[in-house]
Amino acid sequence: MNVARRDDVGSSFRRLRARICCCVRCDALVRCRTQVVPGDGALPATIVFVGIAPGRRGGDRTGTPFSGDRSGKLLREMIARAGLDEVFITNLVRCNPRDEQGRNRDPDAEEIANCRDHLAAELAIARPRVIACLGHMAWRELAGRGHAFDPTQPTTTEFNGAILFPMYHPAYVNRGAYSIRSYRRDFHRLKSFVQTTLATV
Ligand code: URA
Repeated sequence: MNVARRDDVGSSFRRLRARICCCVRCDALVRCRTQVVPGDGALPATIVFVGIAPGRRGGDRTGTPFSGDRSGKLLREMIARAGLDEVFITNLVRCNPRDEQGRNRDPDAEEIANCRDHLAAELAIARPRVIACLGHMAWRELAGRGHAFDPTQPTTTEFNGAILFPMYHPAYVNRGAYSIRSYRRDFHRLKSFVQTTLATV
């Protein structure tokens, strides 16, 4: 990509970021968030990872998705070990959802819907070839209910010109529900898939 086009992409994203950071669509999230957490990473991107929402100890504190907490550490380790590059990382929702006790909770359907056009705008700028959905929530939101979520035998589908690829969420692995060894294998499989996709342009 030439320098002028990269600058364009950079300035489009800066404008988008400014818009996202002053979003006040969800009353509950505006009340409990420390800051809004837009996507972050390479632009344009070969691959975009989509998680759920920034964590209380992670993105809500640092301002960067999947950073400063165990999920972020594991995800970023896996990305580096697999040698994935030109990566952009984002979430379905850009504010940290908390319950009444101040603990992380999943965003509800309305919160996901309110953030949908922020995600779409990030994807339109990143223009990835592959979107890795971290967990069934991201998969269901982007692939729709008709596509089974099975990262052990991934079947892919399409979303606005990119290929959706199902992956477990790092929190699922950190809870011990899936082994690190299998998770590493899944990231290597993703890397091979990306390479094959890039080779078939
Ligand atoms: N941090 C994020 O940014 N997203 C998640 O889904 C979990 C932790």
